[in-house]
Amino acid sequence: MFLALSAVVMALGSSFYFIYQVQKEQLINYTLKSNYAYANKLASATNNFLESALQQLAYSAKIIEADLDNNVLLENEVKRLHLQTNSFNSVVINKNGITVATSPYLPNVLGVTSSSIGAQQALAKKQPLISYPYVSPEGNLIIFITSPLFDKNSEYIGYIGGTLYLKESNILSELLEQGYYSGGSHIYVVDANKKLIYHPDSKRIGEQVNNNSVITAVLSGSLGKELVKNSENVSMLAGYAPVKIANWGVVVQRPLKDTLAYLDVLGVEIFKRITPLVLVMLLATALLAHFISRPLKLLADSSHLLNDENSANKLKDIKSWYFEAQQLKAAMLEGVNILQSQMGQLRQDALTDPLTGAHNRRSLNILLEKLMDKHIPFAVLEIDIDFFKRVNDTFGHDVGDEVLKALTEVIQKVSRKHDIVARTGGEEFLLVLPNEDSDSAFVIAERLRKQVKATSMPKVGHITISIGIAIWPQHNDDIDQVYKCADKALYHAKETGRNKTVIASLN
Ligand code: GH3
Ligand code: MG
Ligand code: MG
Repeated sequence: MFLALSAVVMALGSSFYFIYQVQKEQLINYTLKSNYAYANKLASATNNFLESALQQLAYSAKIIEADLDNNVLLENEVKRLHLQTNSFNSVVINKNGITVATSPYLPNVLGVTSSSIGAQQALAKKQPLISYPYVSPEGNLIIFITSPLFDKNSEYIGYIGGTLYLKESNILSELLEQGYYSGGSHIYVVDANKKLIYHPDSKRIGEQVNNNSVITAVLSGSLGKELVKNSENVSMLAGYAPVKIANWGVVVQRPLKDTLAYLDVLGVEIFKRITPLVLVMLLATALLAHFISRPLKLLADSSHLLNDENSANKLKDIKSWYFEAQQLKAAMLEGVNILQSQMGQLRQDALTDPLTGAHNRRSLNILLEKLMDKHIPFAVLEIDIDFFKRVNDTFGHDVGDEVLKALTEVIQKVSRKHDIVARTGGEEFLLVLPNEDSDSAFVIAERLRKQVKATSMPKVGHITISIGIAIWPQHNDDIDQVYKCADKALYHAKETGRNKTVIASLN
């Protein structure tokens, strides 16, 4: 039963464990894949946005270049760019190092030489540009996207630029926030210098993140997915993709712990559903194991009771419902029967006198014990052959034995079913008559004496016997004293001429 139960428990336990493991792997893979796909989608959307921002600026540059001195045109163009689309938080035009138009209207910037990092970068490069994030003179963390302006002689004279205020709502954050915490994952974007351009926690924007293998990988231009430890040493399932146009990196990640938390819920759910099934299986196994082992246990239990008289019946009662148990039971029954019959024979031998087949002294004692226990009175007739020595001397010991056998037959014939015939010595017999008093015992003794006298013994002819009678408990409570009384009576019979019956005297 233990084996069967532990097999069931182990099988279920291990399948539960493997289901858990497979689910865990699948969850991790699924999260990595979806984060990867999402990062890829956001990176390409960001790329598209930056491309279209640059195109918008390039298109405006073409319009302005046609009439660079028309201030109304410049103002209209910055307004249009700022207000027609929501691509930029602000738009400026720089001519010969000086800011000449802004939208929104920024009086403290207009007419002033631009000294911001973005402006200097743009003026130095003289090319379409996406700047690194920097803090503007107005105190905003911004990214500056510019397109160069050239005059009719193709001389560089300035730029038209749009800003994204990173810590305020901007087109980039709107784009990214559509997926904010989508499926429990969150997004961040880094620039080429590992600075956070976008992060759901806006306080972290501008922060530099080193020692993050994902950031290193994405900024080297590769896309992928991996399990990483972030800067705060939390294990993250990250998918990442580069924004090629600006050499930025988009990372979508989810804490491993959050993903696995779902697994715990799943585990509990599986556990809840399979528990009733497990209990039914355990019960069924226990019952089956019980029914299989029961006949074996009962057979084993009865194996040490084989010398018991009832063992055969006990064995027969055992329900052995399958072939092997039936065979065992049949074999044990056969063994018991053989053993019992041999023991019966031994018992018989131990209780009978081998020459005459009468009870021996031991058997007699047992039978008398029973009578005395039940307080059944009985008469003891002590019988002794007269002058038996002569028989032996004259005809030989073997003939003497034949006489003893013949005498036993006569005694048995005279006695009734419940009387006890025992040979207690060489040629001495005891006949016990239950429920007989001295008078009736005397009558029976006399009948026996006469019958013996009348019987012709083989080869020897006629013999006689003398009988002494005593009654239990009339003569004595103690059976040995009763024997002595019968002995005395017999002695008296011998003394007074033999071939007679004498009842012991009561003193
Ligand atoms: P009494 O009338 O006084 O009884 O004379 P008895 O010769 O019978 O004397 P006793 O009873 O003392 O005799 C016992 C004799 O019984 C002795 C022996 O020869 C004979 N005897 C004892 N056991 C056996 C036996 O097993 N077989 C034979 N054949 N004889 C036996
Ligand atoms: Mg004798
Ligand atoms: Mg004798």
